[in-house]
Amino acid sequence: MSETIFTKIINREIPADIVYEDDISLAFRDINPQAPVHLLVIPKRAIATINDMVEGDRELVGHLYWVAAKLAKEMGFAEDGYRTVMNCGENSGQTVFHIHLHLLAGKPLGWPPY
Ligand code: ADP
Repeated sequence: MSETIFTKIINREIPADIVYEDDISLAFRDINPQAPVHLLVIPKRAIATINDMVEGDRELVGHLYWVAAKLAKEMGFAEDGYRTVMNCGENSGQTVFHIHLHLLAGKPLGWPPY
């Protein structure tokens, strides 16, 4: 697949406000935050959309949620609540084709999202 801006962030070719990293994932602050806290949790392995997951990615995608919950607890907004969203494809508004889990927090969030 073609490289996205997130690969450049993983490779430190462009700057990002990185809040967490391990062998298989990275989390950083969204450049255009939609809430007081807006993080993106991504796998280091580039997967374009969740439709492109292969069998072996099941644990990897679960790991992104594990990182999100860990950060929510460590950053102190787990109790108040937060939202995790992974957009998939055109109708969802996905613009960066390297899967990413949005983590939004810090205020009451509206629902439904339109
Ligand atoms: P949308 O762009 O409609 O929110 P996505 O779900 O694909 O769709 O989200 C991509 C996210 O990546 C956006 O929230 C955008 O602000 C964020 N983003 C794009 N470039 C960067 C960057 N260089 N650093 C941090 N976040 C970025």
